[in-house]
Amino acid sequence: MRPRLRDDLGSLSAYLAPQIEAPIRLNTNESAHPLPPAFADDLAAAVRGIEFHRYPDREAKDLRAALAAHTGHSAEGIWVANGSNEVIQQLCLAYAGPGRKVLLFDPTYSMHSLIPRMVGAELAREPLPPGFWLETEGAVDAVERHDPAIVFVCSPNNPTGNAQSLEVVDALCGAAPLVLVDEAYIEFGGETAQPLLERHENLVVVRTFSKAFSLAAARLGYCLCAPALLEDLARVRLPYHLSSLTQAAGLAALRHLGEAEAILTTIAARRDRLFERLDRMPGVQPSRSQANFVLFRTDVEARALWEALLRRGILVRDVSNYPMLERCLRVTAGTDEEIDAFIEALPDCFEEVVP
Ligand code: PMP
Repeated sequence: MRPRLRDDLGSLSAYLAPQIEAPIRLNTNESAHPLPPAFADDLAAAVRGIEFHRYPDREAKDLRAALAAHTGHSAEGIWVANGSNEVIQQLCLAYAGPGRKVLLFDPTYSMHSLIPRMVGAELAREPLPPGFWLETEGAVDAVERHDPAIVFVCSPNNPTGNAQSLEVVDALCGAAPLVLVDEAYIEFGGETAQPLLERHENLVVVRTFSKAFSLAAARLGYCLCAPALLEDLARVRLPYHLSSLTQAAGLAALRHLGEAEAILTTIAARRDRLFERLDRMPGVQPSRSQANFVLFRTDVEARALWEALLRRGILVRDVSNYPMLERCLRVTAGTDEEIDAFIEALPDCFEEVVP
């Protein structure tokens, strides 16, 4: 007999970014750049040194110390987990859960609506104002109306690409019990909320190694917060949750930061070029982005356009089912060659899907 799923999970769909073996993959905002060879060699040597018969360092002391040096935030207030998704899940386990609410502003990263529900919390959703910029008054008003345990802010926001102002984050910290700022794309643009940590013990800044650090396969994320929060997060994490392999990968990434940082301006320039080329195309309205991807709306049905691109070997993200994003697709700023192939394929695709 099939076991009976928790009643409140029945309407929850699984995370569904299709993993398709297309020659040009511009659908999940990973880095287009594989690890530099020196990094791979360094990591391989570190992996050979791991004592695999022992559990990993539960406190990930070396990694947190290296992150402290990288961020300038005290290691006492740095937490690490398997991708920023797990950091967010642990924050929700500790501070949301049954009987509590999480507030988010749509359209935003799909896991921000799924993770709170996985942990049994209720979701409150408010639309972002036109242009997708949060406004202080409206955001604080939403907090007062919904009384959430956690407010999510995604900056730069996925999938719209724009960053939010620190003024809004500051005001939200004055209004809500906990403000989670997801900075998965902060290395590409936008202003980090990190300086606000000095003033707000109820602020958490969440980041990832999956994008700017070319380390999506390793699954490593972290957050910066007040040291007191680590005691709460320790209650909800599984013992030895972060493997020695992942810790070694993070340490190697931080030893080779120079290589990753050197290409950040190149990626930002490619993203702007991608925006401009889309902007010049008739019937295409791209959104200005501070991340490593661009959202664009067209006059045609998004699914059909997505399929036409895929037939040409180009995989992008169909986000047209997100609130407020009818006829929208999202495309990652890949290599110059990938962007050229995508831009050159678009006119043919439009011809194919226009009846
Ligand atoms: N936050 C945002 C806004 C994202 O776009 C993503 C990845 N798509 C994540 C978090 C999760 O990243 P990871 O779990 O790989 O760190």
